[in-house]
Amino acid sequence: MVQSKIDFSNTEVAFHLKTDAELERAYFLFKMIANEPLVRIGTAATNFALKTHLPVEGLIRATVFDHFCGGVSAEDCMPKIDQMFRSGVYSVLDYSVEGKQEETQFDLILEQMCTLVDFADEKAAMPFAVFKPTAVGRFDIYKKISASIPLSDEELSEWKRIQERFHHICRYGQEKNIAILVDAEESWIQKAADDLLLDMMRTYNKDKVVVYNTLQAYRWDRLDYLKHLHQIAKKEGFKLGFKLVRGAYMEKERERAERKNYSSPICNTKADTDIQFDDCLTYMLNNLDDTSVFLGTHNERSTHLALNLMTQLGVNIDDPRIWFGQLFGMSDHISFNLANAKYNVAKYLPFGPVRDVMPYLIRRAEENTSVAGQTNRELLLIKQEKKRRKT
Ligand SMILES: Cc1cc2nc3c(=O)[nH]c(=O)nc-3n(C[C@H](O)[C@H](O)[C@H](O)COP(=O)(O)OP(=O)(O)OC[C@H]3O[C@@H](n4cnc5c(N)ncnc54)[C@H](O)[C@@H]3O)c2cc1C
Repeated sequence: MVQSKIDFSNTEVAFHLKTDAELERAYFLFKMIANEPLVRIGTAATNFALKTHLPVEGLIRATVFDHFCGGVSAEDCMPKIDQMFRSGVYSVLDYSVEGKQEETQFDLILEQMCTLVDFADEKAAMPFAVFKPTAVGRFDIYKKISASIPLSDEELSEWKRIQERFHHICRYGQEKNIAILVDAEESWIQKAADDLLLDMMRTYNKDKVVVYNTLQAYRWDRLDYLKHLHQIAKKEGFKLGFKLVRGAYMEKERERAERKNYSSPICNTKADTDIQFDDCLTYMLNNLDDTSVFLGTHNERSTHLALNLMTQLGVNIDDPRIWFGQLFGMSDHISFNLANAKYNVAKYLPFGPVRDVMPYLIRRAEENTSVAGQTNRELLLIKQEKKRRKT
């Protein structure tokens, strides 16, 4: 793969917002995360401590939380949002409370989403809002619909309320000119979310893209799915919006497929996932008249591919149909070097009460443990920057 002109190894640009103390903390954290047994023990101990109300929130806050999250509330995140924006990096506020299953909670999230859209409307630094399908509806309802299991009358009205919540958020986004990203989750609930989001795109993406669903490239069927949707969109006259990621639930997906004895929806190898990712990316960039893409990745090679394709296709660096996205606390060398060269870059900035964002933080720790290459790369870059600052 030919590298683009952007140099991701410029650590001065990558870490210019980090103080020496923050850099030391990042180094210490990634060192811990690289140690798989430590992450396993740490996760169990933290879960136990939170369940038994031991006073560990302060410790979590000062370490992993502050590294990977913006704060406990949207207001709390403002200094980080403003600071990143001054360096050309946008923010996507991500209310990362997971696993709630009550209707009152779903309505609260709906309210929270509208407040976030209002918040984004007032701030140039936030062109997107994001939510997870299971933040506004019960996991089991999506699961039943995805498996074509008939719903009871009560469940049908529950599903109707979920549809209304999706409409409400997307309509509000359209009114306020804030694009809505919707995360992808486990494959056994994703069909219901995909179908619903196709309806949202039909309704709200007529002139420009308001709604972005997420394609998980570790699923071997996603390029075909993308092409199929493209045909529908062209025929019916609406635009496609997709966040393209590799996918975060691989172990869970494989374990379930084996346990329930069905063929796994996940690519057999990392190389196959990479091919699927790059093919989806290439397909979308070649069809920019009909699609917008938010590239959610920390992979340098795929990012170089996108940059090269943009050059080949003669697409402007800041074309509003192409965004690059990374998670806060990870891959600053990609985000800040891209922003420095004036590409559209946004960081997912998670926030929420410390104990409620624990599932998100644990996923980050586990992901960085299993994606060992990324952790080692973070460590190497931080080490280089520490050395540079000393000389
Ligand atoms: C802005 C942003 C938004 C995101 N939103 C979502 C979302 O909505 N839903 C979601 O599921 N994830 C989401 N993610 C996480 C994402 O799916 C990846 O887990 C993460 O970004 C790592 O992939 P990568 O492309 O950055 O890096 P890489 O290191 O190149 O890839 C690691 C990924 O490759 C895949 N992989 C690894 N080993 C194998 C193997 N043996 N066989 C097959 N595949 C393999 C896995 O998906 C793994 O996560 C998001 C990430 C970002 C940055």
